[in-house]
Amino acid sequence: MSPDTESAGAARVAVSGGVKRREFLKVLGVSTAATTMLGCASEKVEKLIPYLVSPDQTVPGVSTYYATTCRECSAACGVMAETRDGRTIKLEGNPEHPVNRGALCARGQASLQGLYNPDRYRGPMARRNGQLQPVTWEEALQIFAQKLGETRSRGGAAGAVFINQHESGSFPGFLDAWLAGFGMSGHLSYDAGADHAAIAANRQSYGVAWPKLDFSAARLVVSIGADFLDSWGAMVPQQLDFADARSDHEKAPRLIYVGPRRSLTGLNADRWIDCRPGTEMAIVRMLSGQLPIEAASQTTGVNSAVLDALAREFAATAPSMVLAGGGGVDGLELVLAANALNQSRGNVGVTIKPGEGYLGFDRMATPAELRALGERMNSGGVSLLMVRGANPAFTLPKSVGFAAAMVRVPFKVSFSSYPDETSELADLILPDHHSLEQWGDAEPVRGTISLQQPTMDPVFDTRATSDVLIDVAKRDPGSAARYPIADYRSWLMSRFPGGAAGLSAALPRGFAAGSLGESTAPRPVPPVRVGTPIDQSSGNMYLVVYPHPLIGDGRGANKPWLQEIPDPVTKICWQTVAEMNPLTAERMGLANGDLVTVKTATGSLTLPVLRYPGTQRDTVAIATGRGHPHAGRYAKAGLNPLEILPAIEDRAGGVAFVSTKANVTKAGGHVLLVTTEGSARQHGRGIGQAIALADLRAGRPGHDTGASHVTEVAQNGGPETPQGERPAGGAEHGEEMPGDAPHQFLPGLRSPV
Ligand code: SF4
Repeated sequence: MSPDTESAGAARVAVSGGVKRREFLKVLGVSTAATTMLGCASEKVEKLIPYLVSPDQTVPGVSTYYATTCRECSAACGVMAETRDGRTIKLEGNPEHPVNRGALCARGQASLQGLYNPDRYRGPMARRNGQLQPVTWEEALQIFAQKLGETRSRGGAAGAVFINQHESGSFPGFLDAWLAGFGMSGHLSYDAGADHAAIAANRQSYGVAWPKLDFSAARLVVSIGADFLDSWGAMVPQQLDFADARSDHEKAPRLIYVGPRRSLTGLNADRWIDCRPGTEMAIVRMLSGQLPIEAASQTTGVNSAVLDALAREFAATAPSMVLAGGGGVDGLELVLAANALNQSRGNVGVTIKPGEGYLGFDRMATPAELRALGERMNSGGVSLLMVRGANPAFTLPKSVGFAAAMVRVPFKVSFSSYPDETSELADLILPDHHSLEQWGDAEPVRGTISLQQPTMDPVFDTRATSDVLIDVAKRDPGSAARYPIADYRSWLMSRFPGGAAGLSAALPRGFAAGSLGESTAPRPVPPVRVGTPIDQSSGNMYLVVYPHPLIGDGRGANKPWLQEIPDPVTKICWQTVAEMNPLTAERMGLANGDLVTVKTATGSLTLPVLRYPGTQRDTVAIATGRGHPHAGRYAKAGLNPLEILPAIEDRAGGVAFVSTKANVTKAGGHVLLVTTEGSARQHGRGIGQAIALADLRAGRPGHDTGASHVTEVAQNGGPETPQGERPAGGAEHGEEMPGDAPHQFLPGLRSPV
């Protein structure tokens, strides 16, 4: 939904008119708005009471729209927030914003359930007698100011660490200046979901952390484990650009996806090639002409005829685009090799555009830095730990021991708005405003400043961390002189091109031309713990751990909308499952919902099986994000595979998510799967029908028998109901798919599955 002219006009009045914001947004009589947003929760629903006395420029029941920026991930998409009677009720993408062009992903939409979340901290808390107890803001700020002063006076400033959620914009620089004022080092900017191998390799190859991927300029895209339509890189702009490219039937690029698990990107591919985990480098070397096809086939387990067809198509098609996702111990080398392939094929500047890259991936701390920090904490080298918007106690493999190490730090401060596994260990909670309640900015692409403004008054007694930092700096004799400003909003205005007037003029649109001059210099990577190639004797299956498309690294787990939306690939809700190839499950006597135990050197999980044909047959795949012990009432659902993932890293300092073998055994027992999908097949009902592109282009109805399609689906993943073993690595001999009954459909149409 985009604001109509009248509403957009209202936004302009609201932002720059004479009514003070706090008066304008004032809502009387609402103290627990959260329960109106609980999705399917059964709690009593309370009513929001609208204005008793409306400000002059508002009409009860008529919406006002505010342009702001989504902060649910570092992409910084533009948002239009619909506000009615002082409460934000709906978010949509800002159609004019250059990053997302009106689109908003499910996580962005569900930001509202963070705003009204019933588990949010109601106000500041301090640990007393071992328990976190409510305190006033004045008490909390005095404690914080006192700890900062003590840390510095005792020579402990060098041992103070601030971990901030990764973000672009002015705040990272503001924070580092504040830390320097107390003699402390710059902060660690952490995003657990980032592909650190790809970022480091892109810097080496292209000079930028994340180039623009111009799909419309490519005729062939080969993705080697890069889930670019879901959780890999600049997701929303990549989705939009790919959809645009594929909608042009004459020039649409073909997409081939290579990897052990058919992800959302894999499901959108024309062909899926299911190699064994950890063997992707052999595919890149084969495409580079460095490895014979037969040798690549031996290594990857993929049929040599399939690889031969891939090599021929790649050699014959230009321009192309080769994308590789990290995830294994050789992630950095793999992406570097894929990038070199792009360079040798002349793709850089044509389909891979470093000059139009995204800035949201710069200055990021790696998991290796967080692991090294854990070691410092364990040895008593950290005097004060401050954490805002990050949850390393949950998002790092449990074997890193971050939570246990935190206990050794004398004083921990959390700025989290919500309880989580990290704030649970804090001594002082100074809850931040939600992003829809505070000022900020971002620079998602060079030359565009995306603006963030409050769309309503705070729901609870929280404060913007930026304003808290200014407050305690003013209390400190050594820092006070540097903060003559009233608050962070004033600071932003003083830096904005054109000052306050420039900011007011830009706010209705939500972004402006200009640059914040952020540094894009990479951080040095500390010594990493690179794992050895997979020890084949350490288990009977490869373990693939991947980020959940909606819940991500876990930050969306306490939002019922994100729990309830079926995973776009597995259709599972509220549950963590072990995805296995149907042939493998059949051999082990496992039906959907049967329990298996997945055991590694660092732990075991028992969870239900989902027979997913998009799983390589030697692989068990488990999504991250669920199974929180301390992140709220909804986040407890499911299990966390990071509890059993060994703490090994790639050379860029990222976690190696796909370099472990596990023993998978039948546990006995059965649970119902929580799924919206009764069957993955249409069983002849013709719900979705398809026509060959060649027929569509030629404008003829065609009479496709479906036979060629059956072959392609079966050779890549195998049917859900196996009628016999397929040869290793993808056979050319497909099996009839249940429900694939082309003769039952309209002339020229057939069932795609
Ligand atoms: S990609 Fe989604 S979560 Fe990230 S900023 Fe954009 S809308 Fe928000």
